[in-house]
Amino acid sequence: ATPTALLVGTGRGAQLGVLIKGPEILEQTRTVDSVVLDKTGTVTEGRMALVGVLVPGEADAAGAAADGEDPARTAAQREVLRYAGAVEALAEHPIARAVAEAAAGLAPEAAGVGGDGVGIGTDQVHEFRAEAGRGVSGVVRAAHAGVGLARRVLVGRPAWLAEQGVPADDDLAVRFAAAEADGATAVLVAWDGAARGVLVLRDPVKDGSRRAVEELRALGLRPVLLTGDNAGAARAVARAVGIAEEDVVAEVLPADKVDVVRRLQSEGRRVAMVGDGVNDAAALATADLGLAMGTGTDVAIEAADVTLVRGDLGSAPQAVRLSRRTLRVIQ
Ligand code: ADP
Ligand code: MG
Repeated sequence: ATPTALLVGTGRGAQLGVLIKGPEILEQTRTVDSVVLDKTGTVTEGRMALVGVLVPGEADAAGAAADGEDPARTAAQREVLRYAGAVEALAEHPIARAVAEAAAGLAPEAAGVGGDGVGIGTDQVHEFRAEAGRGVSGVVRAAHAGVGLARRVLVGRPAWLAEQGVPADDDLAVRFAAAEADGATAVLVAWDGAARGVLVLRDPVKDGSRRAVEELRALGLRPVLLTGDNAGAARAVARAVGIAEEDVVAEVLPADKVDVVRRLQSEGRRVAMVGDGVNDAAALATADLGLAMGTGTDVAIEAADVTLVRGDLGSAPQAVRLSRRTLRVIQ
């Protein structure tokens, strides 16, 4: 082996925005035959937008505002968004960012005035809790409400809310399921023991993702889409980028993502994984080849063998191609 070729390879890699941790990693790129792709932030932008607020009794057939239209128009919609936003302002998920931003855009009379504290405007949030892959909760004291009026607000998966004593609301459950089947991400909002609304979000697929999936396939890697999100949203993204339905693994809890990689390995497959989140770190480390989005979390970048600096999935096939070429030169 000539170290010169390796340097050329990694130097070219740096130009392409592909950082490879060490020479031993090149070898892995030759043997991988599968590539597990995290959905949110890897295949999609990871920038969710709130497109609808569903509340009981206010039918909204589309479940979403028209493009660019305010998703929270009625008083009930705004109340749901306000309380959810107060709690989500303390969380870090793409869902949280979208909800908190939309709530921050509410008119002042809906967003609370006076006082101080954390949360929207001046609503105060106590006992904040975030549960990875499930949702968030907190006690919200709205700035305009009298002293003593505080609501325990939950935002997340219906199954998680049910575990905490929130009974299902038939009307909302039907519309929740319809939004998911339509490819959206939906979370349930509850307070004081009852479901109050559903937030509907969408996360656009990155421009180059479809092409990148095609190229990975052409390099002999079978793509698998992996996500904690619902099956409907996962399938919509899979369809958009050309991944077969049987290669979609949805509703996987953060701690279980690594098991999906292990299962594929136990079937004899050699697995590359591309991810960006804290949730992906264990899977990136366990995969035969881990690639992290440079736009992702530090934990993911540390766990991975390769960093795709531009956060563009198109760099993944480039990284594989470049490594294989470098290997050919030095052998
Ligand atoms: P992904 O793999 O898409 O990054 P996660 O495992 O982070 O998904 O989250 C899975 C699901 O958990 C979300 O689709 C949502 O239902 C719920 N969830 C996670 N974080 C939050 C949050 N901050 N607020 C509401 N729901 C959340
Ligand atoms: Mg992600």
